[in-house]
Amino acid sequence: MSVQHTPGPWKLTVTGGDVMTRGESDVLVGNGELWIARLFHPDSHVPGTTSLAPPPDQVKANAFLIKVAPDLLAMCEEAVTAFENLLRGSGKACYCGVEKGACTLCKLRAAIARAGGQS
Ligand SMILES: [Zn+2]
Repeated sequence: MSVQHTPGPWKLTVTGGDVMTRGESDVLVGNGELWIARLFHPDSHVPGTTSLAPPPDQVKANAFLIKVAPDLLAMCEEAVTAFENLLRGSGKACYCGVEKGACTLCKLRAAIARAGGQS
């Protein structure tokens, strides 16, 4: 199972100075060739919106989370394979009991599907 996305690793770049102290800076996430995301500094104005940017600590935390998204996805895919290997020969497709979709394997599969654009 493989989801197509811009190849990693993704890195952070802060424009205009330190995102925690400068009002003119943004945090960019990219792989060195392509930009993946731009996170606005809380003091930035986003034209056409009334939404506020999160506080600086959250901007930084969000950037780190986006940066590691390819790694997290790859680890989820590895975990699914590991769970499926443990189930091999058992005749079971997952660890769900009565409530379908509730086991960790089902939740991992659903998260990977969402990462691929499936709702
Ligand atoms: Zn399940």
